[in-house]
Amino acid sequence: MGYQNSFKVFLCLSVIFLFSMKIMVLEKYFEKINFTAFSIHTTKPIRKGAHYWFSQTNKHANKNITLPNCTLPPDLGPYNIQLNVPLDNEFKNERMSFGGHNKPENCIALQKIAIVIPFRNRESHLKIWLHNMHPFLQKQQADYGIYVIEQHGNLPFNRAKLLNIGYKEALKEYDYNCFIFSDVDIIPMDQRNLYRCSTNPKHMAHALDKFNFRLLYATLFGGVVAFTKEQFLKVNGFSNLFWGWGGEDDDLYKRVITAGMQIERMNNIISKTKAIPHKRDPGNEDNPKSTGFQHVATRNGEPLLEKAARRMYTDGLNSLNYTFIRVMKHRLYTKVLVDIGKPENIEQ
Ligand code: UDP
Ligand code: MN
Repeated sequence: MGYQNSFKVFLCLSVIFLFSMKIMVLEKYFEKINFTAFSIHTTKPIRKGAHYWFSQTNKHANKNITLPNCTLPPDLGPYNIQLNVPLDNEFKNERMSFGGHNKPENCIALQKIAIVIPFRNRESHLKIWLHNMHPFLQKQQADYGIYVIEQHGNLPFNRAKLLNIGYKEALKEYDYNCFIFSDVDIIPMDQRNLYRCSTNPKHMAHALDKFNFRLLYATLFGGVVAFTKEQFLKVNGFSNLFWGWGGEDDDLYKRVITAGMQIERMNNIISKTKAIPHKRDPGNEDNPKSTGFQHVATRNGEPLLEKAARRMYTDGLNSLNYTFIRVMKHRLYTKVLVDIGKPENIEQ
């Protein structure tokens, strides 16, 4: 290569180098703008000018500076749920860690929330749920992880047992102190519906669109419920004995009352909730038959609900057994696949 050619190569390399430096500088600049805008939004109640201080301290990751407790942003309101999630428009947040975990960057959240979803063969609902719920939870400044507990095989579905398993599996990963047990097809329609635990177990799916936003019956406790770790231990979790559709939520209600607690609900406007319409799934038939809304689920002829109070100390978290198959870390959630066995009265 002659002198002239080497000079040309050198010139080219210099131009490329300068160009990439410029991009880096610009990126930093925009990052700063975005970050500051985000900080203003999330640290509203903190003294004037604090957002600037945060943006600086975080950037330098000074470990000696303790972050303030999180507060809710002031602009929570009706939530626009997206039911059609285009393939190329899945929710993205670069800060989120794999497995569907996220916590606020600029503040400390007091509750560490595990959201546990019972699951089998509902991919399309899960996709919609995730797409809407990640931004929802992040707006509420939640420190949370999403656990989808999948029942292996085609034997009757057992929602409650899967939720007990979710509680145990989530605790293996992080020091959660609040558990929200949610169906995969239920999405809140208002950001003021706080996905948080409270002083009593909380029912969060009482104003469903499919029931005209009315509470169906006073003791309804299905769809989405929130328990602190202590509250859930106090009721020994869910019963493991409800196979097929129905009854396990009424049983849980009885446990809460028997343990001397009340249930809480937020008002009907804040609690407006979307339930994605669907047909009953195969393998989740009524357990075993229902009369009106009162289930008469039985085990070997014994009506389960009638004996809920007596059974709760021997049937639940302390009697839970299952076979762990595997855990899969997806970008937006952690899936735990389990074999939960079969109803005692099924011979197979
Ligand atoms: N579910 C599931 N696969 C099934 C049956 C149930 O994933 O085959 C889960 C899912 O999270 C669902 C919840 O269990 O939202 C409750 O079941 P379902 O939606 O049938 O109850 P309903 O809509 O009648 O309250
Ligand atoms: Mn449903």
